[in-house]
Amino acid sequence: MKEYSDPRMHSAEHILNQTMVRMFDCGRCFRAHIEKKKSKCDYHFDRPLTDREIEDIQSGVNRVIEADLPVQEKFLPREEAQAQYTLDRLPEEAGDRIRIITVGDYDACPCIGPHVKSTREIGTFRILSSSFEDGVLRIRFKLGG
Ligand SMILES: [Zn+2]
Repeated sequence: MKEYSDPRMHSAEHILNQTMVRMFDCGRCFRAHIEKKKSKCDYHFDRPLTDREIEDIQSGVNRVIEADLPVQEKFLPREEAQAQYTLDRLPEEAGDRIRIITVGDYDACPCIGPHVKSTREIGTFRILSSSFEDGVLRIRFKLGG
């Protein structure tokens, strides 16, 4: 699956999603294009972000990266996973044992994609731009060394 191709970018996506949930209670992104050089995530939202908010999101994500939290997997029976998480974005072939990816105690999310072992491997997270149209907030980002 192309959307999961880069472990650093994809792990950054998890942290960005949790940061968005905590700041805006907007839910995780419903669509993402994750590529090695540049990525974008789309959220259901009701307005554009202010410059200040963009800065706060960026520094929030970088705080988690710099804390060097372990990124680990655990497996839950589907029923148990369903009770705790949204499984909408998981493909059917995820099976009956659902893989949950945890980022320290910051985030937990069902996922089949590849991840870094600890957050510092991700490097510096930078938001390139964001835009808002028809109830969709798009955030474009890249990673520095
Ligand atoms: Zn993942």
